[in-house]
Amino acid sequence: MSNEAQPNLTGTYDSKRASARSGSESFRAALPILPGATLGILGGGQLGRMFTIAARTMGYKVMVLDPDFSSPAGQMADVHLQADYTDHGALRQLGAACAAVTTEFENVPAASLIELASHTRVSPGAQCVAIAQDRSHEKSWLATNGFATAPFALVYNEGDLDQGSADTGFPALLKVARFGYDGKGQARVDSLDEARAAFREFGGQPCVLEGFVKLECEVSVVLARSDAGECVLFPVAENRHEAGILDVSIVPARVSDTIATQARDMARDIADKLGYVGVMAVEFFVVGGRLLVNEIAPRPHNSGHYTLDACVTDQFEQQVRALAGLPLGDTRLMSPVVMVNILGDRWTGGGPNWDALLAHPNVKLHLYGKESARPGRKMGHFNVLDTDLPAALALAERMREVL
Ligand code: AMP
Repeated sequence: MSNEAQPNLTGTYDSKRASARSGSESFRAALPILPGATLGILGGGQLGRMFTIAARTMGYKVMVLDPDFSSPAGQMADVHLQADYTDHGALRQLGAACAAVTTEFENVPAASLIELASHTRVSPGAQCVAIAQDRSHEKSWLATNGFATAPFALVYNEGDLDQGSADTGFPALLKVARFGYDGKGQARVDSLDEARAAFREFGGQPCVLEGFVKLECEVSVVLARSDAGECVLFPVAENRHEAGILDVSIVPARVSDTIATQARDMARDIADKLGYVGVMAVEFFVVGGRLLVNEIAPRPHNSGHYTLDACVTDQFEQQVRALAGLPLGDTRLMSPVVMVNILGDRWTGGGPNWDALLAHPNVKLHLYGKESARPGRKMGHFNVLDTDLPAALALAERMREVL
């Protein structure tokens, strides 16, 4: 990787550590890995499930490592290793059985990826995951490498908030550096006192203070990059969030050609600079006509679920292809599409109205097989396809209401 500052995979920042431990560099697999072989995945949530379905469709066997007995991916896999992500025995078993292993979430310990990489091919590499899984590493890496972000400050103690808030201004968002997702571990703060209170509320763990920017809209780009550095990008998605959780993705994004081109160029540039191998997503804010990078996800992304029904190759087949060292698939958009997330909130008061949704021939339902619904939990999504984007959006809105 070309960046200077690197996380040392134990949580603190160390600019001198070399990147030689980046996972996919440790083990040289014979590529391509062809159908019949076993592919592994760390994490058994919905992203792991859709990876598993894609891999099995293509004739691979799949082994999933996830501690949850009823994990959505475990239900679909040939083998579900029910163990913790740090379980050495389970990691050895996974490494021995699988021709290659990937991950479906960024919070997998980077040390587990390093351990696996001594047994088998691992992509993405531990170093990339370590950057993406910690907001302070991620923001520092982006700034070091010249990518614009919202103004931010790293906060390790209450004292950091004084100078930090002078840099970011108020209002601001205080975000925990690790394990925050879908708006969790975030607090909007309007004064130094509120920032201090929020920091204490988070137990004094490392945080990032981020200036609250006025969003024109949010967009994202999902891409895949091969070992040889070939990069293919999916069309730009325009994303609407509710309470910090993705609600709707609209594709193609209704942004200018300039913004769309810049988003794809920046995403490619980030992947190149990371030396990334696999599928990744970059989320952007559009602010004052320019792009700010919000987050990097070292995996397929919720905002890429539209590809399942609207692109020649979907993001999960692409993940299989990149992992197996196959040529990357065609990312062409075959139809305008609107993706709508289905959250657990809809189960309160009788459950979703599937009849109404499934009555439409151009609405595609994807459910994740989760046993219990909770507010805010992602239970599934649906894609609405129409040759006319406004018509797809109107139907999606209608379906959201009737569901
Ligand atoms: P995150 O988990 O950081 O991606 O935040 C979830 C959502 O909160 C984003 O998709 C935005 O809609 C909103 N958000 C996060 N950070 C900011 C910010 N600095 N300014 C304005 N809105 C933000």
